Amino acid sequence: MSKLNKKNVEDLNVKGRKVLVRVDFNVPMKDGKITNDNRIVAALPTINKLSENGAKIVLCSHLGKPKNGPEDKFSLKAAADRLAELVNTKVTFAKDDTVVGENAKKAVAEMKDGEIVVLENTRFRGADETKNGEGFAKELADLVDDEVFVMDAFGSAHRAHASTAGVTKFVKETAVGYLMNKEIEFLGNTVENPVRPFVAILGGAKVADKLNVISNLLEKCDTLIIGGGMAYTFLKAKGFEVGTSLVDDEKIDYCKEMIAKAEKLGKKLLLPIDTTIAKAFPDPIDGPVETRVVDSDKIPADMMGLDIGTKTMELFANEAKSAKTVVWNGPMGVFENPTLAKGTNAVAKALAESDATTIIGGGDSAAAVVQLGYADKMSHISTGGGASLEYLEGKVLPGIDVIQDK
Ligand code: AMP
Repeated sequence: MSKLNKKNVEDLNVKGRKVLVRVDFNVPMKDGKITNDNRIVAALPTINKLSENGAKIVLCSHLGKPKNGPEDKFSLKAAADRLAELVNTKVTFAKDDTVVGENAKKAVAEMKDGEIVVLENTRFRGADETKNGEGFAKELADLVDDEVFVMDAFGSAHRAHASTAGVTKFVKETAVGYLMNKEIEFLGNTVENPVRPFVAILGGAKVADKLNVISNLLEKCDTLIIGGGMAYTFLKAKGFEVGTSLVDDEKIDYCKEMIAKAEKLGKKLLLPIDTTIAKAFPDPIDGPVETRVVDSDKIPADMMGLDIGTKTMELFANEAKSAKTVVWNGPMGVFENPTLAKGTNAVAKALAESDATTIIGGGDSAAAVVQLGYADKMSHISTGGGASLEYLEGKVLPGIDVIQDK
C-alpha cells in the first residue's frame, strides 16, 4: 500500500468559511460533570488552528449511547462549557434536540470568523448510526453551506456514520485534523513502511479477536511477539501441554498456519519461553493470587498460565530494545492484577527505554502505558481502541478513506 497523503488543516484556506469538524468529545461523565477532559484537550490543536485562520467552526461529536433520542445526561453542553474555558474565542452551545434544527442554524448564522459553535450529541439523531443517515449528513453539510468538513475523531473513523463519512458527499472540501493526521502517520504509514528491524508485539485474551491483526502484522514485521492469553493457543498448536490456560481450541489450526507462514516468510515468531502460573483465575480479578514460574513446556495439567515468565520478559524486552520500530497491542497477562501485571509492565518499560519509534495500538496496552507514567516516552499512543485494531488489520477505515488526498 502506498503512503496515505490526506489533505490536512494546513492545506485549507478557511478564512471566513464555515467548517464542520467531527471531534471526539465522548468524554467520561459522572453526575453531569466531566471526569477526564483529555479528549477535549486533544482536539485543541485543530480547533485553535482553524480559529486562528479565521474559520467559523462548527463542532459535532457523539457522547455515550443514548438509546431513545435526546436525553439530558448525554448532552454535549458540559463539553462545550469546558471547551470555552480552554480557548480564547467565543463558544456557543447550540442546544437542539434535532442537532441541526432552528437553534443550531441561528447560532451558526450569528457567529463571527474564528468563533465556535458546538452542536448537540449527534446520536440524538439515531440516523447518525444507521445506513439511512444520508438525510442527516446533508443537513450537517447544509449547516456549513456545503463548504468544508474536517475529520478529527479517529476513535469513530472505523464507522461509516453520517457525521464521520456520510457528510463528505455534500461538501466542497475535506481534510483530516491534527489528531487524525498523527494516527495515519503512525498506525498507517509507519507500519506500512517501517524502519527495520520492525517488531510487533501482540497480547490480550483471545486469538479469535486478533486473527487479521496477527496475519497482517506477520507480513509487515521482522519479528512477531505473542504474549497474553492468546499465547497458550499457539503453545498448544506447537504440541505443548498448557494445563487449564485460556485456549481457543477452534483456532489451533489457525495458529499452526501462522507458525508455518512465519517460517515461509523468514520471520521470527516469538512465544513465551516461560510462564507465570496459578491454580485458578484470581477472584476478584485483582485479589491475592499465588504464583510460580515454569518453562512453557512444563505447565502442569491442573495449572493455568496468567502472565509471561521472567525469562520471557527479558527476551521480549531485549527484542523490543534492538528494534527501530515497535508496535504493541494487548497486555502480556492478566494485568488488572498487580501480581500478574509484571509482564505487561516489563514490555511497557522496555518500550519506554527504547530508541525505536514506539506505537501503542490503543485499548488496554495504551491504558497500561499511561498508568505507568510512560506516556511521554512513546512516539504515539493511539486514541482509538477498535479503530486502531482495524487499522492494524490493514483495513481501510471509512472515516479516512472518504477524505480528499492532497
Ligand atoms: P484484549 O481485550 O483481547 O486485549 O484482552 C485483554 C484481556 O486479556 C485483559 O482483561 C487480560 O486480563 C486478559 N488476559 C491477558 N492474559 C491472559 C491470560 N493469560 N489468561 C486469561 N486472560 C488473560
